[in-house]
Amino acid sequence: MRSNLNNAIRFKYHQLAQGVRFGYHQARNLVKLDLGQRLTSPTLVANTLDQDDVKIAKSELKNRDHWFRADDVTVYEKTFADWNQSSYVFAFMEARVALSASIYALNLKPGDEVIIPGYTCVVVLNSFRFAGIKAVFGDIELDTYGLAAECVENLVTPKTKAILLHHLYGLVCRDYEQLLSIAQKHHLSVIEDCAMSTGAVFKDRKIGNYGDIAIYSSEQTKVFTTIQGGLAVTNRKDLADRLKGFYSQAAYPQEGYIDKLLHTVFINYFSFKHPHRWWREELVQILHEGKTLRSTTREEEQGVKPAHYGCRMPAPVARIGINQLRKIDAYNQTRRETSQNWDTWCRRNGYQQPFVVPDSTPVFLRYPVLVEPENKRDTRWAHVSPGVTPGVWFVSNIHPVAGELKSCPRANTAVRRCINFPTLLF
Ligand SMILES: *Cc1c(COP(=O)(O)O)cnc(C)c1O
Repeated sequence: MRSNLNNAIRFKYHQLAQGVRFGYHQARNLVKLDLGQRLTSPTLVANTLDQDDVKIAKSELKNRDHWFRADDVTVYEKTFADWNQSSYVFAFMEARVALSASIYALNLKPGDEVIIPGYTCVVVLNSFRFAGIKAVFGDIELDTYGLAAECVENLVTPKTKAILLHHLYGLVCRDYEQLLSIAQKHHLSVIEDCAMSTGAVFKDRKIGNYGDIAIYSSEQTKVFTTIQGGLAVTNRKDLADRLKGFYSQAAYPQEGYIDKLLHTVFINYFSFKHPHRWWREELVQILHEGKTLRSTTREEEQGVKPAHYGCRMPAPVARIGINQLRKIDAYNQTRRETSQNWDTWCRRNGYQQPFVVPDSTPVFLRYPVLVEPENKRDTRWAHVSPGVTPGVWFVSNIHPVAGELKSCPRANTAVRRCINFPTLLF
């Protein structure tokens, strides 16, 4: 009785607090309007969600009995394969899981070594850790922030079995061809991390098709989004068979997780993209409080494998993916156009423009620039002019985990100085 009463009071108090929060937010916006300031700043979220994606998410929430049917996942994989000029595609819940599947497919074993860039995400390192494989860090170059070929040769030992190269910020990595030929010379497998550069082209072929196996991400800050999602891609039949072995053992995520993901679709849309987001953002967040998915858990940051790790993609997520793939080329074209404005900004302000590898077409997920360390530590200057919120990834060698790799001085320079500007502005 007493606890019911307490709960009722707590609920009323909660409603009141939310009302105050909403009122405060709107009052603050009215003041901004009066001062002629921007009501919202472009977010770090990639913003390729539109009303049509929201419609799919809402209809999926109403039709839960279709959630675990495999057919639309197959359609999604086939659509991506055709678009990416690749033969075999397997859809997982995250690119990090696609990487775990790739490690399995390549038959990498505990004790093996893999050379990876010393400027990466903790989740990439984790996939190797979880498999007992030693990651050896190679330094990067500062033109495209990719693995520097001249560092790799020195790191090859008899235990080295693979190289992971990455294409960051939507660029094609500078030493692509040299890295492929070093791998060939030493009989190493090549894994391409294309998480940030889906759709970038090198010599008339999409990246990811040059190595043995590639991973792509559709997490919410990437080139296209299903909030969370990852793909493992290969053109080799033997590796596809092994990927399939991993894939068929992988579980679907729980319903509660899918429910949250679908909610995050419209929370993100109304918060960051909708023309009336300046008043809807706070409202949608209050209405669906606690429904937003977080992409990396605290335990993952500490290198611990989470219980939910290793899932394949279920149909509702794939249906959003299919819709996103319809729009990806148009969004990438917009990104390339916006990047020209950033080129002008760099020339005016005395900064180096990112390097575009000859014969390549980048997608410019973000526009990376090396600025003074103090301008990375505190990026508020950019809110005023050029009027955007810059991204600061990566903030450490093994982002976001604190600590420095002494063996990678150029990666450390990027950690101190590389910020990235958005290329989809609304
Ligand atoms: C985001 C990202 C990943 C991980 O992708 P998830 O889908 O979140 O697992 C891996 N590598 C790079 C370079 C990334 O940017």
